[in-house]
Amino acid sequence: MQTLQGIAVSPGVAIGEALVVDNEGVRIPQRFVAREAVQNEIERLSDAIAGADEEIAANRDTVTQQLGKHYGAIFGAHLRMLHDARLRREIEGLIRQNHYSPEYAVSRIMRRYAKVFQSLDSAFMKERATDIFDIEKRLLKHLLGDRSENVSQLTSPVVLLAHNLTPSETANLDRDFTRGFVTEVGGPGSHTAIVAEAMHIPAVVATGQFLTDVSGGDLIIIDGNHGRVILQPDEETIARYRHEVEEHRTLAARLRPLANKPAITEDGTTIHLYGNIEFPYEVKECNASGADGIGLYRTEFLYLNAKTEPTEETHFEAYKKVLLAMAGKPVCIRTLDLGAEKLLEVPSPEDERNPVLGLRSIRLTLRNVPLFRTQLRAILRASALGKIRVMFPLITTLKELRQAKMLLTDVMEDLEEQNIDFDRNIEVGMMAEVPAAVIFLDRFVDEVDFISIGTNDLIQYVLAVDRSNKDVAHMYTASEPSVLRLLRSSIQTAIKSNTPVNICGQMSGNTLYTMLLLGFGLQQFSVPPASLLEIKKVICSVSIKQCQRIARRVMTKENAQEIRSYLKDELRKQVPELVP
Ligand code: PEP
Ligand code: MG
Repeated sequence: MQTLQGIAVSPGVAIGEALVVDNEGVRIPQRFVAREAVQNEIERLSDAIAGADEEIAANRDTVTQQLGKHYGAIFGAHLRMLHDARLRREIEGLIRQNHYSPEYAVSRIMRRYAKVFQSLDSAFMKERATDIFDIEKRLLKHLLGDRSENVSQLTSPVVLLAHNLTPSETANLDRDFTRGFVTEVGGPGSHTAIVAEAMHIPAVVATGQFLTDVSGGDLIIIDGNHGRVILQPDEETIARYRHEVEEHRTLAARLRPLANKPAITEDGTTIHLYGNIEFPYEVKECNASGADGIGLYRTEFLYLNAKTEPTEETHFEAYKKVLLAMAGKPVCIRTLDLGAEKLLEVPSPEDERNPVLGLRSIRLTLRNVPLFRTQLRAILRASALGKIRVMFPLITTLKELRQAKMLLTDVMEDLEEQNIDFDRNIEVGMMAEVPAAVIFLDRFVDEVDFISIGTNDLIQYVLAVDRSNKDVAHMYTASEPSVLRLLRSSIQTAIKSNTPVNICGQMSGNTLYTMLLLGFGLQQFSVPPASLLEIKKVICSVSIKQCQRIARRVMTKENAQEIRSYLKDELRKQVPELVP
């Protein structure tokens, strides 16, 4: 048994067999073979080696012919590795003695070798690990033939292990059979993390290198609550985690009745609780948990499975679906927030070295007016069918906000001319997630109907910490006093001007901060659907007076760690069942 520590990004526990995604997502379907099948399996291994040999030799010849002997020699080296007598002996040994299937034996031995190379100091030798993975892939391809499985279409439950997963790859995972995933890199605020949570897939990122320690088919536990990954757990650990899963189920069942109750504090303040969604199907859970509406619809996710740019109709149909499902409750559509690590996997131009500070989000849509207009038309057309709010992301300057609003007015005029129905009084808001806008918020509030604070980006920009970089993940936290001070002042600025304000960053779905935010005066939260009931539980268990006292105490403290442990103690006192 081996335990790895990473960052918990999507809650829950997953126990299952590993599928190592860097083997082109192939699945090792069976780890053991019957004693009497051993000889046959050894023959299958020989056939696979022969098949791989043919392929590599053909590659060597083509490359030598086209590029010269020097390059062809790379494949010559692969051939020597493939036929290495010791390697062969070790793989066969696992099949004969442990009754491993050839696939599993190949994967275990090749990974052991790759690990040795990776641990060497020389960069040249480290690179040889890639060659070993290449040979492993070939052998597995020959062994599995048609039986290989793609991660978007699995046939039985697995936990996925990968070096990295992009948000699009994550969104394309098979939701029925992906129990959880672990990646070696990644950060706490990345969109991969947000997508995992939306899909209810427990996930841990940023464990550091470990893929050479596992093989497809190994038993793995993913603890998405504490960021732990346990390789080949013992019986006692499995039993402990099974118990935790059961306890969580019981808590969820106990919270369920709250779905039909309003979120009112003990001293009578009504709080509005909205859901954050990325996919239309998530409205079901928002409704089941009694959400007051959708506070953030991340529409850039319409691009996920699209081969071509979504048309006005594609946008319109998605919005219509969400609106109708929400049956009259407000739906806040955020215009496209593409770029940076989000969903645009085009190679960055050379001068896009800091994509997070580059041409993303509203900056990108204002430069691509036809793309922006298409979306705005769809939003406006949908506004005739229910209560839509429209919101602009990443606003930095007043000029930018005015340009976006002007474009919206322009599209309204077009629709009017064409006699197409829309809501002329549609509410227009902005995300406060760039420090410049937050600092200047008292001027912005005069020009919008509402403000939504995006703490995911705000934290990254205030602390100068990339939200998806594991190496600085320990610095990425909402509990830094500087971040909290900005949040408190933004909420107060909005309240002073009677501008409705909510927080839609991940922080608002974390029960640790609920009392603090109530104490700051926040009366609207927009949270991931899975957090709705827990947040409501906290709201219904506390008074605003208590929360204000907690907020005052927090603001006297000067470090994040101290603030977190104080908030945890207070939460434990008020709502013990939420702090195991
Ligand atoms: C945020 O930045 O807090 C936010 C809600 O938007 P996203 O996570 O999509 O950037
Ligand atoms: Mg953001």
